[in-house]
Amino acid sequence: MSNIEQTLSIIKPDAVQRGLDNAIKDMLKSKGFLIIKEKKIQIEKSEAEKFYKVHETKSFYNDLCSYLSSGPIVAMILEKENAVLDNRELMGATDPKDALEGTIREKYGISIDKNSVHGSDSVENAKIEINFFFKD
Ligand code: UDP
Ligand code: MG
Repeated sequence: MSNIEQTLSIIKPDAVQRGLDNAIKDMLKSKGFLIIKEKKIQIEKSEAEKFYKVHETKSFYNDLCSYLSSGPIVAMILEKENAVLDNRELMGATDPKDALEGTIREKYGISIDKNSVHGSDSVENAKIEINFFFKD
């Protein structure tokens, strides 16, 4: 049985600023992800606060929202078999120093906050996050 899923991926400001969009897209494509839609945008802090609402009680919430809205990002709908978990695996651990070899964060992440990519953590959240960026 095939299990084609979609997930939301974001190339975060630190990576866009360093011109890593194409290198990261190539890593995704080489693992079989189709990029169904993509857009490069800069969001308002208030929008970042909505996007990361699940983290609103965390100490890092304010800095995280300032950071995500600090420069252009690339939001993408990715599709493949088991896209949600496979993207999390390709991203690597939240803190790049814990990320396994060959992962995006191991290769490009700078620090736990500037970790180059976001990826939905469940099929349910993927639907919400895709709708957040691509509702039209
Ligand atoms: N983050 C941070 N400090 C922390 C934990 C998380 O700045 O101690 C940031 C980091 O950019 C991370 C984001 O908050 O990507 C969301 O955290 P989450 O735990 O959901 O990690 P992710 O799903 O991105 O791996
Ligand atoms: Mg998360």
